[in-house]
Amino acid sequence: MGPAAPRVARLLLDFGEELASSGAAQAGGAFTDLPEADALIKRSPEAFLTGVLFTQGISAERAWAGPYLLSQRLGHFELERIAHEEPLVAAALASPPALHRFVHTLPRWICSAARRVTDEYGGAAACIWEPGSHVLEITRRLNAFDGIGEKKAAMAVEILRRHFGVPMMGAECGSVAYDVHVRRVFLRTGLTDVDTPEAIREAARRVCPEAPGTLDLAAWLVGRDWCRPRDPRCDACRLAPACARLTGRDVEGVGVRRAQSSERSSSPESSLG
Ligand code: SF4
Repeated sequence: MGPAAPRVARLLLDFGEELASSGAAQAGGAFTDLPEADALIKRSPEAFLTGVLFTQGISAERAWAGPYLLSQRLGHFELERIAHEEPLVAAALASPPALHRFVHTLPRWICSAARRVTDEYGGAAACIWEPGSHVLEITRRLNAFDGIGEKKAAMAVEILRRHFGVPMMGAECGSVAYDVHVRRVFLRTGLTDVDTPEAIREAARRVCPEAPGTLDLAAWLVGRDWCRPRDPRCDACRLAPACARLTGRDVEGVGVRRAQSSERSSSPESSLG
C-alpha cells in the first residue's frame, strides 16, 4: 500500500457520500437510462435480484434494464411462472436484439433463482436481505444462487445497504467487488500492488475497516469514467490530488501480480460493464 492510500480512501469516501446524498447513485436514477426499468428495480426485490444476475459481461445500464425488458417480452414478471418457463424465458432473452450476451446460461440462472425464491423465501426476494441480517449471512444467501459469485454478492450487498437503505449488521464485514474498474483503480492509486481478490479486499479493509464495501461504488465509477484502461483522464479525476498515478498498471496489462481466478476468466468484462 502506498503512503497516499489513506488520502485516496478519503477521496473515495467523500465521492461516495456525495453520490448518495445527491441521489446520483440511487436506484431511481443511476442504473439505466430507462425510467420504467429503474422503477421496476426500485420497487421489486425480485427484479433487483434478476438484475444482479444480468450484471455480467455487458454494460451496467444494459444489465439493469434487463429485468424490465424481459418483463415486456414475457408480458409479466411473475416469479412462479418464470420458475417453470425456462424455454419461454430463453426465447425472450434471445430474440433480436438479444437482451444479453449469455443467452444460454442466463435463462437457467433466472429460472433457478425464481425457483429458489419461490421455494425457500416464500416468493419474496426481500427475505434474502431481511432487515437486521448480517452482511455475511446475506452474502452467503446470495452466493447460493446459480450465477451469483462473491463478486456479484459483494456488489449486491453494497447496493442494498447504501442505496436502498436496507439495515444490516456487520458493515465491517462487507467488501468491494473484484471488478475490473475497481481493481484498476486500486492498482493505479497504489491502494494495492497485487491483483488478487484477497489483496483488493484486504486493501479496502485496511483503509476503511469500519465499512470496506463503502469504497465499492465510488471506485467503480472512477474506474469507469476517468481511470479508463487506455486513456486515463487524470486531469479531471476525483482522485488526482492523492493518486500515485501508476497508469502503466492495468488489470489486463503489466506491472502487477495477477490473479488466476475462475471468476475472472469466466467474466471477460466487468460485472458492471
Ligand atoms: S485516472 Fe489517474 S488520477 Fe484517477 S485513479 Fe486513475 S491513475 Fe489515478
